[in-house]
Amino acid sequence: MSTAVVYSVPAERAREGVGAILEASGYFKRLRPKKRIGIKVHFGEHGNDNHIRPEFVRAAAVAASYYNLQPVVIETTALYRGRRQEATEHLKLAREHGFTMANVLAPLEILDGRRGEKSYDVPLDSELVPVAHLAHGLRRIRYIINLAHFKGHFVAGFGGVIKNLAMGLAAKAGKLAMHSTSKPSIDSEKCASCGDCVDYCPNHAINYVQYVAKIGRSCTGCGGCLTICKQNAIRINWDAASETVQLKMIEYAGAVLSGRELIHLNFCLNITPNCDCYPQNEKPIVPDVGLFGSLDPVACEQAAWDRLAPKLKELYPHLRPELLLETAARRGLGTRHYRLVQL
Ligand code: SF4
Ligand code: SF4
Repeated sequence: MSTAVVYSVPAERAREGVGAILEASGYFKRLRPKKRIGIKVHFGEHGNDNHIRPEFVRAAAVAASYYNLQPVVIETTALYRGRRQEATEHLKLAREHGFTMANVLAPLEILDGRRGEKSYDVPLDSELVPVAHLAHGLRRIRYIINLAHFKGHFVAGFGGVIKNLAMGLAAKAGKLAMHSTSKPSIDSEKCASCGDCVDYCPNHAINYVQYVAKIGRSCTGCGGCLTICKQNAIRINWDAASETVQLKMIEYAGAVLSGRELIHLNFCLNITPNCDCYPQNEKPIVPDVGLFGSLDPVACEQAAWDRLAPKLKELYPHLRPELLLETAARRGLGTRHYRLVQL
């Protein structure tokens, strides 16, 4: 049985924590200098300040630069409606939340195009997810520092480093495939027949039927049209069950991990009941714990879960979040067995 090392830093020393974990893990020594290195982070939703603070991203960028790598802060567009759904507004929101180049000392890049429509396909040995649709720009990034905010999640029970890889680096088509069992549809009551979606669809899948737009069979589920409609008439069914979402996330995380060198940090600070996509500030459910970091994403997730499971289980008694950890280990993403090293 393999055992991974998980480094932990208490909340009161979180400021030095990122650099300490990156150094102690020996991560940078495994990488070739001068290459681009992605720092994956969630910039936070409008109205929600519980996201990872820019100074932590800066610490990762400084450490990467010290090892002669080229850091770039990476993110993708969101699936749901809001400011993060489209790249230009998403980057504006990021800057409002303090993720300016001057603050984080690295450029910001949305990897899946303006509307989340730019993807590349990774074939997988999985019946559930035969093909993963990852953000197109990820093809140029082999090294990733995965900075995840560990907190509750109403679909999966919790969200940390695995969700940050899976949902966080999928293109819109991938996010849609994880959350929904169907393609988008158009609410004929709301459709004003403006034609914007008809003109936009790269697959010519939208046509008029009895004077309103309708999505046809040639829709590939790219999700690009979700950002187009000013009437909010194009919708998706968020109908995938919790366990299906978890299982699909594992396949997507596996697709991201494949062939890449990553390190994973779970920030157990501002631990809220819901994810950073929520448009409001929620109160933390427990005092800050600190940081966990590891070269092994499953061990990193397990360490944070072990610390916070009682409270999160109380919040979501109807969910089975351990399924994510069990399946991730079984699918070879890492090990649930770890040795904790306090820094
Ligand atoms: S963009 Fe919206 S309102 Fe315009 S045709 Fe499409 S669905 Fe109808
Ligand atoms: S109708 Fe389908 S293929 Fe066309 S933009 Fe929308 S999701 Fe993409």
